[in-house]
Amino acid sequence: MGLLSQGSPLSWEETKRHADHVRRHGILQFLHIYHAVKDRHKDVLKWGDEVEYMLVSFDHENKKVRLVLSGEEVLETLQEKGERTNPNHPTLWRPEYGSYMIEGTPGQPYGGTMSEFNTVEDNMRKRRKEATALLGENQALCTITSFPRLGCPGFTLPEFKPNPVEGGASKSLFFPDEAINKHPRFSTLTRNIRHRRGEKVVINVPIFKDKNTPSPFIETFPEDEEAAKASKPDHIYMDAMGFGMGNCCLQVTFQACSISEARYLYDQLATICPIVMALSAASPFYRGYVSDIDCRWGVISASVDDRTREERGLEPLKNNNYRISKSRYDSIDSYLSECGEKYNDIDLTIDKEIYEQLLQEGIDHLLAQHVAHLFIRDPLTLFEEKIHLDDANESDHFENIQSTNWQTMRFKPPPPNSDIGWRVEFRPMEVQLTDFENSAYVVFVVLLTRVILSYKLDFLIPLSKVDENMKVAQKRDAVLRGMFYFRKDICKGGNTMVDGYGKAQHSTEQALEEYALMSIDTIINGKEGVFPGLIPILNSYLENMEVDVDTRCSILNYLKLIKKRASGELMTVARWMREFIANHPDYKQDSVITDEMNYSLILKCNQIANELCECPELLGPAFRKVKYSGSKTDSST
Ligand code: GLU
Ligand code: MG
Repeated sequence: MGLLSQGSPLSWEETKRHADHVRRHGILQFLHIYHAVKDRHKDVLKWGDEVEYMLVSFDHENKKVRLVLSGEEVLETLQEKGERTNPNHPTLWRPEYGSYMIEGTPGQPYGGTMSEFNTVEDNMRKRRKEATALLGENQALCTITSFPRLGCPGFTLPEFKPNPVEGGASKSLFFPDEAINKHPRFSTLTRNIRHRRGEKVVINVPIFKDKNTPSPFIETFPEDEEAAKASKPDHIYMDAMGFGMGNCCLQVTFQACSISEARYLYDQLATICPIVMALSAASPFYRGYVSDIDCRWGVISASVDDRTREERGLEPLKNNNYRISKSRYDSIDSYLSECGEKYNDIDLTIDKEIYEQLLQEGIDHLLAQHVAHLFIRDPLTLFEEKIHLDDANESDHFENIQSTNWQTMRFKPPPPNSDIGWRVEFRPMEVQLTDFENSAYVVFVVLLTRVILSYKLDFLIPLSKVDENMKVAQKRDAVLRGMFYFRKDICKGGNTMVDGYGKAQHSTEQALEEYALMSIDTIINGKEGVFPGLIPILNSYLENMEVDVDTRCSILNYLKLIKKRASGELMTVARWMREFIANHPDYKQDSVITDEMNYSLILKCNQIANELCECPELLGPAFRKVKYSGSKTDSST
């Protein structure tokens, strides 16, 4: 989750004293990069995925599953045996927030050819195998977005008690600091967010009211004044960064051929974020309870919300400069491309001095305000040894602010002195149980970028509508019940292939608005006279591409999964988990997930991930890679 510096971390008070220094030099570093590479045109698309994993341990005798706090050791061995031994090693491993987490990516980025879509799943399998091989007996590597009993007594191995005292990092009633990655960046982030905010973070997730759930559902925390005040009735209360950043996701980063292509993709994909998030929903349970949300987004957002009471608008501004409407982890606030300008309808708080400086340096309004908005934030961690840098050749101060703005999309300038191009990162997706599903979501998003660029598609709607979509996307069963604002005519490039749909829609719909409320099924699969559907567009693109038979077969399988998840023919992971718990013999319809229920759920997830059992309601019948057998390829998707 970003920059890892070594050294002695500074406290919040010390970091704060250097905040202007970090911002000033961060901007100088950005300017150096911008001037050096603003005109660079790379002709090849490159891209890569990131999968985050949890390490779990099964206690079969006592029917318990716990998170294993060995991420640092496992990572060390993976790197030692992998990238440090062989620079061409097929996988790369990185730390993540939880001491029970690791993150894996392909060793080299994928290129622009179609056949590479056929290697994604193999690479993910390799990762799973590589890391699994290092685990102890009864341990497993899981791709689950949120661990259902995270923060419940004894959820870690070894077991640690939470230590809600001032000296600690989280001060949490539930989440012990030992579950945080031991690299000082992570505990410092945790502590400094809390100190900057002036109180513990507050996460309140609505509880799912089942037949026997107490109503109102109230938890009391007499021993903790902050918790007593912050916890809300009918909500699951959480009080630590680990409840958010301790969740896993699936991300994709693209290198565009130029800065303007990157800006175009950034905007277009921003509108897709809530849609794909709802489609990937996989996190219905928190702190041992069934919640009423399906996605982790708002939980992480609250878990790293470092805004003071003044910034949140609860007190008049006195010590702070701005009211800030969102957490550092949230949806984007402005489009970056020229076509996006007229849809920028969210009030943007910016650092005016930085904005003026960027304009003077020849940067256009849209990019200048984007950077000046990111830079309203303070640095959260700073290492004593890393204060004075060479701005022409280093970018740590820029990255410091950039990498702690965790938004749905990230616009990434090249690192200094590298041959990497301008990139955008797509960040909203929840991680799925299997490599097959994760590949399907990744391939879907990458193909979508190909189609956006080839057909010059335009998905833009007012950004405030995208924000409304983000709220809807996290609700329980949003994939089937949610209605999302989406652009009706997406063919501004006037492409003939998709134009037919555009015309059909003009004649049948009279509305003046460029967008309408649509279901995910309509957006993904299309609806006669309303919207062509993203999958039909991808299919027609594929029909016109030269693709080897085997790759085509894999891609069609992936798109079938997405199509069926959108139509409801297949369940999302969130829905499937809900049904699993609802049907568990121990479940008392009281929204409580016991140790034993958690054990059977995670055990089942692990069996599915390792293909030890089928799960047609989640994956369909053909979840195993169906090789071309000489018969007609199925193009019925
Ligand atoms: N785990 C975080 C999430 O679920 C992302 C951390 C990162 O940026 O790598 O969104
Ligand atoms: Mg990560």
